[in-house]
Amino acid sequence: MEPRLCHTLVVDDDETIQEILKATLSEHGMVVLTASSAEEALEVFAVKEIDVVITDVQMNGMSGFDLLKRLKLIDQSVKVIVMTSYNSYESVLQALQLGAYDYIQKPLDNHPAVIAAIQRAFENAKLQQENLDLLVQLRTSHDQLSAANRSLKEANRKLKHLAVTDGLTKLYNRRFFDQVLKREVGRRNRYKLALSVVMIDIDNFKSFNDQYGHTGGDIAIQAVAQVLIESARTTDIIARYGGEEFVVALPLTEPERSITFAERVRKNIEKRVIEISDTESTSVTLSIGIAGVDAKQLPISTPELIKTADEALYLSKAQGKNQCQLLEITTKKEKAA
Ligand code: GH3
Ligand code: MG
Ligand code: MG
Repeated sequence: MEPRLCHTLVVDDDETIQEILKATLSEHGMVVLTASSAEEALEVFAVKEIDVVITDVQMNGMSGFDLLKRLKLIDQSVKVIVMTSYNSYESVLQALQLGAYDYIQKPLDNHPAVIAAIQRAFENAKLQQENLDLLVQLRTSHDQLSAANRSLKEANRKLKHLAVTDGLTKLYNRRFFDQVLKREVGRRNRYKLALSVVMIDIDNFKSFNDQYGHTGGDIAIQAVAQVLIESARTTDIIARYGGEEFVVALPLTEPERSITFAERVRKNIEKRVIEISDTESTSVTLSIGIAGVDAKQLPISTPELIKTADEALYLSKAQGKNQCQLLEITTKKEKAA
């Protein structure tokens, strides 16, 4: 890209000075525009891209200082160089306080100094613009990075959720339940707390599938999941354990009290109308096995708890289905002894 030339606007009501500056600055590769009054300068400034304004102070009409103020209001970054004709400290100070970039003194007999002042102002303007551009780029990159980061986090959250969730019922999956139960058993053993595990299996589900099809079966599985969610407390951990098998861990729940929960689930599902289609509805029953330990018992292991719940479920099935059976781990031990 061609380097940008410095566009200078010379403002002076003395045409000789305009001519001198135009000739000198053009020789140094600058694009020079001229205005004979502050008013005219404002008009030029409004339509042309100007990098540096070099202005006289005392002119007919608006003064150079007023022009400086107006220009600064229009564009804070414009570089204005003021030509002070009297060697007065006050007018230089006033110019700088109003935001002048520099000042030069009339008569303009030191042309190299004038050119140097304008070039400095131009370089400064370019640097300022580059800084602004960089800042914009930086903000854009930062915004893009933040957006990418947010969507990564969201994707990660979804992945984590998927990894622990059963697709059909949106309950936890077995793998996640096993992890959580292990943690709960550890906590139970350490602090001597009660803990119950409830194993649930849909009765005669094979023939249910035969009668209503696999899709009908899926609807029933979802209905059971829904009843479990409605019947449990938020601290209970519900999972789909296998095809038509569910498991619920009830932390801090004495075995006797977990029967209440299991019975509530069993009754709720028994009376739940499962809509298979617009014309067909039916219901299912559940067999439930509960394993539990109270707060006083010795440490237990996770496999022991699951195995006991399975045995209790088997008892329910063996004794006619659609019922709950409880095996307390101590009771079992006493029996075994
Ligand atoms: P029981 O009362 O002894 O539990 O009998 P059952 O027929 O329910 O028991 P079984 O374990 O023999 O059969 C379970 C059936 O569940 C077998 C399988 O076709 C069905 N099943 C397992 N997973 C799914 C599933 O995701 N969707 C559907 N629709 N059926 C499933
Ligand atoms: Mg089964
Ligand atoms: Mg079954």
